[in-house]
Amino acid sequence: MAISAQTNTTLQSIAQALSSRDGFVICGHVNPDGDCVGSQLALANALRALGKTATCVFAQDIPHESTLTCLPGFDGIIPSAEYTGSVDTFIAVDVSDAKRMGDAAKLFESASLRIIIDHHEVDTRISELNYVEPDAASTSMIVWQLIGYLEVERDPDIAACAYVGLMTDTGRFQFQNTDARAFSAAAEMVKSGADPASLSTSIYQNRTRASVSLEHIMLGNIIYDDEKEFVVSWVSRDDMESVGAKRSDAESLIDTLRSIRGIRVACMLRGEDGCVRGSLRAKDATDVARIARMYGGGGHVAASGFTIHDTMDAARNSVLATLEKELS
Ligand code: 5GP
Ligand code: MN
Repeated sequence: MAISAQTNTTLQSIAQALSSRDGFVICGHVNPDGDCVGSQLALANALRALGKTATCVFAQDIPHESTLTCLPGFDGIIPSAEYTGSVDTFIAVDVSDAKRMGDAAKLFESASLRIIIDHHEVDTRISELNYVEPDAASTSMIVWQLIGYLEVERDPDIAACAYVGLMTDTGRFQFQNTDARAFSAAAEMVKSGADPASLSTSIYQNRTRASVSLEHIMLGNIIYDDEKEFVVSWVSRDDMESVGAKRSDAESLIDTLRSIRGIRVACMLRGEDGCVRGSLRAKDATDVARIARMYGGGGHVAASGFTIHDTMDAARNSVLATLEKELS
């Protein structure tokens, strides 16, 4: 890829740096998703196969009850606050903004070499080696390519981790970022031993009953805007508690909203302690990252997120007004 504002190196150069160094800490973003954890574990598994020491850290908390526990190596990931060693090489995947690294930002600062591999559009470079490709469907796809430049076999474990990143970030190969390159990479991963049926069962056919109960509540809260063709719904912190739901139980709810006929933009709000987390998805060319940035968040054109430090009522009213104003 050409050198750009975000990218100052090549994957071959990153592969060379990885081959000549050791003592890796690999981090993703806060609220880790399949692409972030899949990219971390694919890379860690490859580096360990080269005989190197690689520790994966969560930016902040351990995601409890996550379906991502199916990924080889998940149990070995530690919260970054528990990492006490020194950091030779810090690799951030699926994140290129220190603010989204949570507690791991301190480790990032202390490393002798910092590497960023990401597919989120950014306008700054914060590491010595920065590789950001916004056109890549997932970060795990870039990591998969990078591992191809290392002297290591891309085994079934590595393939499974990379595949889950690609499957989840493309919404099971359905979203606008799903292109021929994503399918080619997926085919390579499957050839190397990723099992699509069992991985999709682990990730998508594995909902907790609390998640289903939460969806029941969410469906009762839907607000449609027929003129601007958007939909907003929410679940409060009390709703989550009433059905014993964890954060991960709410993740699939946005998919139900975006599946509705005639909807262009879907927004799901989830109450947390003292704040509200928002997820936005676009089914057409609407840039929902721009809307998320209005609230200090960000993400991709078609999938973004944000946090509002206010009550659910205030957050909902604000988001309804913003979407009404900003959508054409
Ligand atoms: P989700 O709705 O699944 O939490 O996030 C969708 C996408 O937006 C992901 O790519 C995620 O990394 C990004 N994203 C979510 N929340 C934020 C945020 O607060 N800031 C930034 N920069 N990106 C976010
Ligand atoms: Mn991603």
